[in-house]
Amino acid sequence: MKPRYSIFSLARNAMNYHKDWERAWRSPNPKKEYDAVIVGAGGHGLATAYYLAKNHKMTNIAVVEKGWLGGGNTGRNTTIIRSNYLQDPSIAIYELARSLYEDLSQDLNYNVMFSPRGVLMLCQTQHEFRAFQRTAHANRLAGLDCRMVTPQEVKEIVPIINDDPNCRYPILGAYYQPRGGTGRHDAVAWGYARGADSMGVDIIQNCEVIGIQREGDRVVGLETTRGAIKTRKIGVVTAGHVSTIMDMAGVRMPIESQCLQALVSEPIKPVIDCVVMANTVHGYMSQSDKGELVIGGGTDPYNNYSQRGSFPALEHTVAALVETFPIISRLRMLRMWGGIVDMTGDRSPIISKTPVEGLYVNCGWGTGGFKAIPGSGWVFADTIANDRPHPIAEPFGLNRFQEGRLIDESVAAAVAH
Ligand SMILES: Cc1cc2nc3c(=O)[nH]c(=O)nc-3n(C[C@H](O)[C@H](O)[C@H](O)COP(=O)(O)OP(=O)(O)OC[C@H]3O[C@@H](n4cnc5c(N)ncnc54)[C@H](O)[C@@H]3O)c2cc1C
Repeated sequence: MKPRYSIFSLARNAMNYHKDWERAWRSPNPKKEYDAVIVGAGGHGLATAYYLAKNHKMTNIAVVEKGWLGGGNTGRNTTIIRSNYLQDPSIAIYELARSLYEDLSQDLNYNVMFSPRGVLMLCQTQHEFRAFQRTAHANRLAGLDCRMVTPQEVKEIVPIINDDPNCRYPILGAYYQPRGGTGRHDAVAWGYARGADSMGVDIIQNCEVIGIQREGDRVVGLETTRGAIKTRKIGVVTAGHVSTIMDMAGVRMPIESQCLQALVSEPIKPVIDCVVMANTVHGYMSQSDKGELVIGGGTDPYNNYSQRGSFPALEHTVAALVETFPIISRLRMLRMWGGIVDMTGDRSPIISKTPVEGLYVNCGWGTGGFKAIPGSGWVFADTIANDRPHPIAEPFGLNRFQEGRLIDESVAAAVAH
C-alpha cells in the first residue's frame, strides 16, 4: 500500500523540500501473462482496473496504454458531471457515477476536486423547454434532485447571462441539477492509477496493442509493441479507437469516431460559479479554479481521428457564447484542442460481453463519458470478473443494436452531433 496523502505527509515532505515524495505509480515491464488485461488507460480503463482489484480482488492484471495515461479524451474534456438523462438505464448508470464522485477523493485518497456547483441547461426554444420538462418528469420519478427554474432564477444563479427577452434566442427557463458540477479530469485518471497501482495492478504506458490473439471463439492473448501478453480476459476501453482494436478480434462495432473540440480563455476573476449549457445556440461554459473559462461546443460534422482544434468550431462556439454571455466578447482565448469521441447511433454507451469469449468492451461514451467514469468502471469490472453483465450494464449490451432496443439519449446528451 502507498503512504497516505494528508496534511501530515505534506508537512513532513515540506521539511525536506518535497524531495522524498514517492512516485504515484510504478512503470513496470509487461509480464508474460495476466488474469485480465484492460486496453486503454483513460478514466474508464483505470477505474475498471481499480474496481477489479478493490471489489473483486483481481490484482494480477494490467492496463496497457499506447501513449500516456489520461492522455486521451479523459485529459481533454470540459469535466461536466451530471446525471439528468432521460431513460431509466441511463439515469441508473450516470447517477451511480455521480454519487461515487461525491466521495471519490476520500476513497482514492487523491483530491479529484469534485465541485458540485450545479449544472444549468438553458431552454431557449419552446421545443427545448418541452423536451426538458419531459426529462424533468422522468428524473423526478427516478428520485433525482433536479428541477425546472424560471428565467428570473437563471439570472439569480448566473448574473452575467444575457436575459434580454428580445434577443435571438431568449431564455425561457432552464433545467437545473444542483448536485451536478465539475471535477479535475487529470486527477481522476491519476487517482485511479495510483489506487490501482497500490493494489498491484501493472499500468504499462507506451505499449500499443497491435493484435488480439484468438483460439477459436475465445481470446488467449494480445500482441503489443512491447511483446506478446497471454491472458484469457481482455477489456477494450479505447474510446475513438475502439473499432480498430475490436477489428483485430474480428468484431465489428456500431461506432463512428469524430473530433470534439474545447478551448479555454485567459484567466479572469470569478464570474460564473456553475456550469451553463446553451444547447440551442450551442456552447457550454464553466470557470476553472485558475480563472480560465472552460468552453465546449459540438462534434465535427464528419468522421475523423483528429485531436486538434479548428477555426470553424472556434468561431461557431465562441459566437454562441458571446450571445449568451456578452461580457466575454473581448476575452482572449488561450488554447484549443480536440479528442476523438466514440459515437453510437442512440448516443448511449456500450458495456458488454462480445461474441468472442473473454473479450469485453466498454465504449460509446461519446461526448459525455467523463461524468460516468466511476459508475462505468464499477459495473464493467463486475461484468469482467463474473463473466455476465452487471444489472446496470445489462441494457447497454451490444445486442441492443440487433434487437432494436435502443436507449435514445440524443436530446439529453446535450451536444450537437
Ligand atoms: C473536448 C471534449 C469535451 C468533453 N467534455 C465532456 C464533459 O464535459 N463531460 C463529460 O462527461 N464528458 C466529456 N467528454 C467525453 C469524455 O471525455 C469521454 O467520454 C471520456 O473521457 C472517455 O474516457 P475513456 O477512458 O473511454 O477514453 P480515453 O480517455 O480516450 O482513453 C482511451 C485510451 O485508449 C488508448 N488507446 C487507443 N488505442 C490504443 C491501443 N491500440 N493500445 C493501447 N491503448 C490504446 C488511448 O491512447 C487512450 O488513452 C468530452 C470529450 C472531449 C474530447
